[in-house]
Amino acid sequence: MKVLVLNCGSSSLKYQLIDSDTEDVLAKGLCERIGIDGSNIAHQPAGGEKVKEEADMPDHTAAVKIVIAKLTDEKVGVISSLAEIGAVGHRVVHGGEDFSGAVVIDEAVIHAIEGCNDLAPLHNPANLIGIRSCQAIMPGVPMVAVFDTAFHQSMPKKAYLYGLPYEYYRKYKIRRYGFHGTSHDFVSKRAAEILGKDRKDLKIIVCHLGNGASVSAVKYGESVDTSMGLTPLEGLIMGTRSGDMDPAILSFLAEKEGLDAAQVIEICNKKSGVLGLSDGASSDFRDLVQASEEGNEQAGNALEAYAYRVGKYIGAYAAAMNGVDVIAFTAGVGENNAEVRAMVARYIGYLGTNIDPERNRIRGEEVILSDGGAKVVTMVVPTNEELAIARETVRLAAES
Ligand code: AMP
Repeated sequence: MKVLVLNCGSSSLKYQLIDSDTEDVLAKGLCERIGIDGSNIAHQPAGGEKVKEEADMPDHTAAVKIVIAKLTDEKVGVISSLAEIGAVGHRVVHGGEDFSGAVVIDEAVIHAIEGCNDLAPLHNPANLIGIRSCQAIMPGVPMVAVFDTAFHQSMPKKAYLYGLPYEYYRKYKIRRYGFHGTSHDFVSKRAAEILGKDRKDLKIIVCHLGNGASVSAVKYGESVDTSMGLTPLEGLIMGTRSGDMDPAILSFLAEKEGLDAAQVIEICNKKSGVLGLSDGASSDFRDLVQASEEGNEQAGNALEAYAYRVGKYIGAYAAAMNGVDVIAFTAGVGENNAEVRAMVARYIGYLGTNIDPERNRIRGEEVILSDGGAKVVTMVVPTNEELAIARETVRLAAES
């Protein structure tokens, strides 16, 4: 079956067409500036050149139509007609407490996703627009929602409740949800497969280190804790997000700088993390490593603070699971940045792991970093959220 995987942002739409039999990506692309002047699409058929062009996309429905036109185009297309698309998988950021797994989309599901809009005001409405657009263009084609939060719904209360008056949980569902769940699930599963073991027998810590970053504790196949919270702002220091901090800083900063709450949160989301810590040098880890090597002290400090926080979370999650068998690195930084992995390794040797410097040079591939004598296996497992979404979509579409 050919599955279209869609990830809709407020003004963007990322897509992949995947052949679920071979798991090959047939084509992929990105629409940007939807609803804004200068909207454009970058489309790439497998084995072909990427073509980028301006295209009129006043809304997401127009963007989906243009994606379909590209997929069926004589020159850069990979299918002959829309009828070849057997199912659509939608990435949905927030499923709240309603969804602990992927679901076939119907009106009740749409209503429940709408109910989570407050928890992810930037993402869920965009995801819903993508779903509605596809329903209009491809009526009758099964659609599946795969939630970023679902995998973490297995967290116990002690891990997901904040130390706040319980009535706020009752009234507003303020709690920790966690994100990147599709990735944490995929990577922990794959890590066990690579080791020839059953995930149900392992305690795995997954470090999803990308622009957004989170760590999870996956005990015997279930997420029992993760570093992101009510929103993706909690946890690790990220590219531009602060991660954990004393909440009193918010009102302190607001008062000192004459800002309102939304403006302070904007700073925490967009101007903080390694970008802020490096005094504005960059949010990109390649730039930071280079700047640090060239003597930019603050870039070096930002990297050190980043690695230190990752190391602290690994220690915390080893405690949460009363042990750890596997530590898996994934996402842009985790898969590719040997320098950052080596820095993190300095904080976790006491667990009985090590990182072989030669193996650590490998980028973007599945590799076991530790040697055979290590008590805890450290490895790199490239994530593939689109493939995970396609697999879930096929599984549920077959049942529907
Ligand atoms: P992601 O959000 O998963 O796409 O990750 C983005 C981050 O991954 C950026 O900070 C990049 O610097 C980092 N990254 C991506 N590719 C490489 C690479 N080849 N070497 C080092 N860092 C990389």
